[in-house]
Amino acid sequence: MQGRELRGELDAFLAETEQDLVAFRRDLHMHPELAFAEYRTTQRLAERLVAAGLTPSVLPRGTGLICDVGSGDGPTIALRADIDALPLQDEKDAPYRSTVPGACHACGHDVHTTILLGASLFLAQQAAAGLLPGRVRLIFQPAEELPGGALEVMAHGGISGVDRIFGLHCDPRVDVGQLGLKSGSITSACDKVVIRVSGPGGHTARPHLTADLVFALAKVLTELPAALSRRVDPRSSLSLVWGRVEAGTAANAIPDDGVAEGTVRCLDEDAWHAAPDLIKALLESVAGAYGIEATMEYTRGVPPVVNDEACVQMLGEAAERALGAGAVVSTHQSLGGEDFAWYLESIPGAFARLGTRSPGGTTYDIHQGTFDIDERAIAMGVRVMATTALTALFESTRVPAADEITSALA
Ligand SMILES: [Zn+2]
Ligand SMILES: [Zn+2]
Repeated sequence: MQGRELRGELDAFLAETEQDLVAFRRDLHMHPELAFAEYRTTQRLAERLVAAGLTPSVLPRGTGLICDVGSGDGPTIALRADIDALPLQDEKDAPYRSTVPGACHACGHDVHTTILLGASLFLAQQAAAGLLPGRVRLIFQPAEELPGGALEVMAHGGISGVDRIFGLHCDPRVDVGQLGLKSGSITSACDKVVIRVSGPGGHTARPHLTADLVFALAKVLTELPAALSRRVDPRSSLSLVWGRVEAGTAANAIPDDGVAEGTVRCLDEDAWHAAPDLIKALLESVAGAYGIEATMEYTRGVPPVVNDEACVQMLGEAAERALGAGAVVSTHQSLGGEDFAWYLESIPGAFARLGTRSPGGTTYDIHQGTFDIDERAIAMGVRVMATTALTALFESTRVPAADEITSALA
């Protein structure tokens, strides 16, 4: 691909638009909107995309939008940004701090949104000049924090026909100008489990004539996590941890019901898929041994984000080309959840961590009211996203060399 020209074109584009993009981010930052209420944000985005000659399609709920750049028979590469804010108080002392009490862009989604807008405007220029060998699908997704926005996008055909998908997230522990990448799992799964137990109840003098429900519930609480640690590959780090338990009202009466609530966290996709059935089977065996009835309510959160190796390579090559040699650093798998994972359950893609810390400056954390970024990360993100889309399009349309065909047939 014409790496050098692309970098020069991005330099020229950003020389003109960087200040405007920073202003766009600050406007979003001052007007944060919570999950599925991002009407103003969606409107602002639609206006800018229409002004660039594109035809965005707002999702049916009125928040979030999808927009294609380019057309033709080539491959389709999707770029995704999440647009929602958090129900947190902004504690920054900055002129662009949130004007909405109890709402704040403390996860950097205003930054992701602005970066994707910048990449969209650049790619629209490329398409107008006939330089786009395929289609780029822009996904401005609502409600990542709920979560559920990714499923909403998918329910409305957001990734149908898409070959690969890419996204990024602010990483306040990495310096601006760097991009954290990792193949395989990069975030974790987190689900909720509620267990209800019931039995005849009775006097604590005669547990053998009833079912000793509190004792049985205690067995459930200790046996389930213990058995899981022996039934699941320890490398998956599947952990069931209880956060609430309740049963009984008097010292000398065995209650007839009880409840326990907890979370299941998991680093591995296969173990995550198997978890509900396994926990249910273990629950039934423990409850059966003590003669109580037990039911389980299992609520899926998100699966882990599992990065495709080939896509990570494309993203890495693009980032080196866009930001310079040495810009790509390795990153670790976090215990946090990210609903980008739902896209990767259907199509290959990669999710990266964009450095947002000023070198030598404060290390912030996401989901805290003080969170902020070095705004130079916006231009860096635009460079990475635009270059990644073009790299992926060119690599997907590239005619394989003769020796590659020979080795594929061997
Ligand atoms: Zn978040
Ligand atoms: Zn986030």
